[in-house]
Amino acid sequence: MVETLVSNRIYLSTPHMSGKEMNYINEAFQSNWIAPLGPNVDAFEKEIARMVGVNEAVAVSSGTAAIHLALSLLGIQRGDYVFCSSFTFVATANPILYQGGEPVFIDSEPDTWNMSPSALEAAFKDAVKKKRLPKAVIIVNLYGQSAKMDELVAICNHYDVPIIEDAAESLGSAYKGKASGTFGDYGIYSFNGNKIITTSGGGVLVSNHEETLKKARYLATQAKEPAPYYQHSETGFNYRLSNILAGIGRGQLEVLEQRVLARRNVFQIYKRELTEIPSISFMPELKDTYSNRWLTAFTLNERRTDVTISELLQTLEKGNIEARHVWKPLHMQPLFKDTRYYSHQENESICEQLFRRGICLPSSSNLAVDDQMRVIDCIKNKLSQ
Ligand SMILES: *Cc1c(COP(=O)(O)O)cnc(C)c1O
Repeated sequence: MVETLVSNRIYLSTPHMSGKEMNYINEAFQSNWIAPLGPNVDAFEKEIARMVGVNEAVAVSSGTAAIHLALSLLGIQRGDYVFCSSFTFVATANPILYQGGEPVFIDSEPDTWNMSPSALEAAFKDAVKKKRLPKAVIIVNLYGQSAKMDELVAICNHYDVPIIEDAAESLGSAYKGKASGTFGDYGIYSFNGNKIITTSGGGVLVSNHEETLKKARYLATQAKEPAPYYQHSETGFNYRLSNILAGIGRGQLEVLEQRVLARRNVFQIYKRELTEIPSISFMPELKDTYSNRWLTAFTLNERRTDVTISELLQTLEKGNIEARHVWKPLHMQPLFKDTRYYSHQENESICEQLFRRGICLPSSSNLAVDDQMRVIDCIKNKLSQ
């Protein structure tokens, strides 16, 4: 076999600047609003709130910080249960531990790969029996796809338990025409470097509860009380976003819609080019939802191919292509080894199957078509052997 030198690495998801960010950063420099906070932060918060259709947004240093603030606002304390999607990044659940809470993990269902209403119902029924209801439910929208919000919200309302929607990956997505991230009492988005838009690092907490979001701002600024000296009665955090980074965010927000269209187009090309391979099933898009297709993901049908996901990943790596396993379910993580977990059906754990069979492909909004064809050829070669 002739070794070919492949110089250009293709990444999973890269930052994609609009060119407008520098205007906002320059403004900040010229007015010396380098820190703390400042006009870019205020404007960024208003722009996001308007865009997703909520009353208030608080810009913070990460999506993880936004989840932590939401849990803190809901009064999660030592020993409190929090129901949480299992099929997600660890950042969803880490803040439960920061508060001393106990996560209880809920499986996915096949139509959205997100939280299973039947598993959630089972977890609630059990909690009622044990007289230990959760204080919050964290619902995740993976890879841009909204969870089955109607069903999930109805269950949480029935038990009168508030929802935090982890929309870190689904900014720009919608469920029945309403923005993803706006279905719970609190929603969070992330602007980490690999997300659909980025501030290099950052996040935002959104809600229609304006009064409690004022409290979030206060908690995120060391819980500093309005007094002529430094006065504090509560434990606070240093979680606010800098005025420079908010400037990047404003430049990115202007092109969010284009970024969503570009990622959806990346998905369409994969789908078109790989339909001939019978072992591939792409992550579905639920009827009446609109996914930003942050990452294109598919599963391999084990009955139709002997190739495993690990082997496919190795082949892509040899081609200098960065692809990844889908998230390893949190209930399978050593960190959460003794944590309670409710599966979709009694003997069927959907997210475990997805983990075994699933892969995420390079999906950047600035992915060149030639590069994408390189990924496609690599997959075709491996799977049509
Ligand atoms: C990225 C991500 C987060 C955390 O966001 P950060 O800004 O990196 O802290 C939380 N949940 C999910 C599902 C994510 O993908």
